[in-house]
Amino acid sequence: MAVDRFLTRRRKLLAKIRAEKLDALLVTSEVNVTYLTGFTGDSSYLLLGPDVETLISDTRYDVQIQEECPGIETYIRDSSEKIDVSTGKVVGKANLRKVGFESETTSHAQWERFQKHAEQVDWVATSQLVEKLRMVKDAAEVAEIRRAVELAERAFRMMVASLHPNMTEREASFELEDAIRRFGGEGVAFDSIVAVGDRAALPHYYPGDRRIAEADFLLVDWGALSPGGYRSDLTRIVATRVGAAATHRFRASTGRLSPKLEKVYKVVLSAQEAAIAAMKPGAACKDVDAVAREIIKAAGFGNNFGHGLGHGIGLEIHEEPRMSPISEDVLQPGMVVTVEPGIYLPGWGGVRIEDDVLITKTGCEVLTSVPKQLDEIPTA
Ligand code: ZN
Ligand code: ZN
Repeated sequence: MAVDRFLTRRRKLLAKIRAEKLDALLVTSEVNVTYLTGFTGDSSYLLLGPDVETLISDTRYDVQIQEECPGIETYIRDSSEKIDVSTGKVVGKANLRKVGFESETTSHAQWERFQKHAEQVDWVATSQLVEKLRMVKDAAEVAEIRRAVELAERAFRMMVASLHPNMTEREASFELEDAIRRFGGEGVAFDSIVAVGDRAALPHYYPGDRRIAEADFLLVDWGALSPGGYRSDLTRIVATRVGAAATHRFRASTGRLSPKLEKVYKVVLSAQEAAIAAMKPGAACKDVDAVAREIIKAAGFGNNFGHGLGHGIGLEIHEEPRMSPISEDVLQPGMVVTVEPGIYLPGWGGVRIEDDVLITKTGCEVLTSVPKQLDEIPTA
């Protein structure tokens, strides 16, 4: 029988715990607990060390734990006991000296409560031990991300087909969400961005009442959550046939796009394609970011690309590694990262093109396949 993938992950973490000279690590990040155990509930912590493995949870999750991670040792508290007290007790009883805690997800107040019940323990702040493991996806995770990509792409085609001039951004984003669920997805990977015209200059815009025909293009940034809990993240530009619904102020050079949109789009696309071509094991994330950034700068838009080139995706929508000018990460086979350069011009709009890319042993594979060449831009 194949070794349980969650057990494999816990074994990898154990090697890190030993290397950090810790007797155990207290995992308080819910998503890290899910990654290490398969348990998908909340309010539960995992204490893991060479001599201890206890999932600290409560009576609501008794049955779910037996189903999702059979065999794992548990401490089940009832509602009269707070989780921090249970945690302190479990750690206190386990006869441990040095215990690491996750400094990003453990509050100072919690740490004080743990201490009260485990006085002999020397608590050590750790950072991103599990997150660094999560950077490199195993085969099951890559399959889940592929599923999330497929769901997002099918939903996008449905949404584009449903667009009409009077539709609002909010309605379009609902079409996406509805289609993702109808095709079997768990939901959206994050709140979709549908931004008409100048709204697209705001990288984290929330869909509102703008109507599709109010500008000659819209930006759509969306993703699906797979049934297994993994996420995809894409961005595309959709051109609109601005007919009688709005006054035409430009002469379209391609017949569909304004000259300005075409110019900006070409720069973003060439930056994105060059960055993808530079992605392979051993490439520094900041160097890949620089490939795209230089092209955008050379075209005169250096001040209009204010965010990093991309980020890891997985159980969370933003994970390690980060592709940015300050990233210290190096690409490795199994990483899945977005590549999303953009140019944002206040008052006019913004263009971003985003794909999800798997690093392979020899280079990379683009997992997303929604067409993005200039003559393939969908038109609504
Ligand atoms: Zn995105
Ligand atoms: Zn993204």
